[in-house]
Amino acid sequence: MIVREAKLLNGSKEQYQAIDSAIRTAQFIRNKAVRLWRDEPSVNKARLSLLCKELAHDREYPWVKRLNSMARQASAERAWNSISSFYRRCKEGVKKKGYPQFKKHSRNGFADAARTVEYKTSGWKLSEDCLTINFTDGLKAGRFSLFCNHETREDLFRLKINRVRLVRRADGYYAQFCFDANRQETGNYTGNVIGIDLGLKYFYKDQNDNAATYPKYLRRAEKRIKKLQRQLSKKFVKRAKSQSNNYHKARIRLGKAHLKVQRQRKDWAVKLARCVVHSNDVVVYEDLKIQNMVKNHDLAKSISDASWYQFTQWLDYFGKVWDKTVIAVAPKYTSQDCSNCGHRVKKSLSTRTHQCPKCKTEICRDTNAALNVLKKGMNILGVELNSTQGHWETAGKPGTLEESSTTVDERKLESISCLDESRINSVKNPAL
Ligand SMILES: [Zn+2]
Repeated sequence: MIVREAKLLNGSKEQYQAIDSAIRTAQFIRNKAVRLWRDEPSVNKARLSLLCKELAHDREYPWVKRLNSMARQASAERAWNSISSFYRRCKEGVKKKGYPQFKKHSRNGFADAARTVEYKTSGWKLSEDCLTINFTDGLKAGRFSLFCNHETREDLFRLKINRVRLVRRADGYYAQFCFDANRQETGNYTGNVIGIDLGLKYFYKDQNDNAATYPKYLRRAEKRIKKLQRQLSKKFVKRAKSQSNNYHKARIRLGKAHLKVQRQRKDWAVKLARCVVHSNDVVVYEDLKIQNMVKNHDLAKSISDASWYQFTQWLDYFGKVWDKTVIAVAPKYTSQDCSNCGHRVKKSLSTRTHQCPKCKTEICRDTNAALNVLKKGMNILGVELNSTQGHWETAGKPGTLEESSTTVDERKLESISCLDESRINSVKNPAL
C-alpha cells in the first residue's frame, strides 16, 4: 500500500467545520463501540458493524446519519482493530497490552493527537484533473483544492484509490490517499554488507567505524519545544473554567513546533535509511524492544528511542522496495562479546573501548557491537565471518532462525546469492 498526502486548501470556515464534525462523528462511533465491548466483552466484529446501523437510525443522535455509511463502518472497524490487537497482545504476553481507550476530542489538533476520519470508495469525488476533491456525504463539506507534490499528483492519476483519510493537524487539514499498489523498484546491488549498532553517542556506528550522528538542528528544535512547553504550563491556570487567550496562543505555538520537528525527524530518518539500504545489499540491525524503552524520563534518550524505531522501520521499508535483505537480530550481548574471539567482556555504559584480555583486541565499543550484530545477521543467512583471514565465507548450513526476532523468508535468502565471494571479501574487519 502506498500512502500519499495532500493539504486541503481554499475551503470556507463552514467547510472546515464540516470536516471537524465528520472527525467527531467517527470518533463518537468508535467510542460507542468501545463502550459496548467494555459492557459486553463477548461482542465481535459483526456486532460492532450492527451497532453502526443502530446508531445511524437512533433518533437520539440524528447527526450520525450525515456521515457517509462506509466511513461509519470504517470507524467501527477501527474500534475492532484496537480490540483485537489488545487480545493478540494478551495472548503473546506482552507487558504493554494497550487496553482500548476512549478518544477525547481535541479542539487544537496537537501533532501527536491528530484526529482522523476514513472514507472508503464513496462519499467523495476527485475532479477529472485531480486538482480538487469534493465531499458529497450528508455533512456537505464540499470542494477543496489539493495541494501536493508532483509524485502524489501522478499517483492520483495513475493508481486506484482504496481509502481517503482526513487528518486534522496543528497547521491545517490533510487528505491521505491510500493506493492499492506496492512500491517495487529495481535495486542497485553493490555487494556491500553492513552491521549497525544504534547508540547514544552516535546515532549509529557500522562495522567499518563509520558513524552517523544525530543532527544539531534537531537537538535545537527539541530544545525549543521544551521552552514552549514551559511557557505553556506557566500560562495554565488550575481549576479555571476556561484558559486565557494567551494560553491558547501558546498551545497552538507548541502544536506547530511539535509538528515541525516531527516532520524534520521523519525526513532525516527516511533519507538516512534510504542511503544505508541503497549502498548495501544486506543490512543487519539490533531489534530494539521499543516497548521496554517508552517509559524513559531522560529526554535525549527518549528522542533517540523514537528516531531509532522510525529509522529501523524505514530500513525494512526500503529493503522491501529494492528487494534487499534487512535483518533484525536480538541485541543480547552484542556490546559485551568480543567480535574477534567471542570472549564475553563485561563493561559499563561509560566504557568507550572494547579491550579483550584473551586476544588483546582493542577497538571502539560501538564498532565491536556493530561487528557482532553483523556476525549474528550473517549467521542467520548462513554466511560466516572468518576472522583469521578477515573475510566472509559461506558456511555449510544456515544458523538457527530462532536467534532473530524476525524470520527471513526463503525468497530473501535466495536474493543473497547475488553476493559473490570476491565482493564479500572486500568487507574490512577493523579488528585486524
Ligand atoms: Zn577477544
